[in-house]
Amino acid sequence: MPGVPRMGRDRPRHPDTRKGEDDMALEMRDRCERCETAALPADGPARICSYECTFCVPCGEAMRDVCPNCGGELVARPRRAAAS
Ligand SMILES: [Zn+2]
Ligand SMILES: [Zn+2]
Repeated sequence: MPGVPRMGRDRPRHPDTRKGEDDMALEMRDRCERCETAALPADGPARICSYECTFCVPCGEAMRDVCPNCGGELVARPRRAAAS
């Protein structure tokens, strides 16, 4: 048992430290936020809410097209198709 005191060198601990690890910030999402495994290419089908929470179609259907994050309606994400 090391008896070395670390007085004054302890980092302050905040009760909400976990939130600092939550990096689910605004990004262009190419994966479903729910299952985190389904790839969502820009030209593929997806569901998105007004806050840009993005989900795959099966998850959207499973959640009855209601966003679990904000409670908003999930709609079909417009596909970003290349000029034809
Ligand atoms: Zn999904
Ligand atoms: Zn949402």
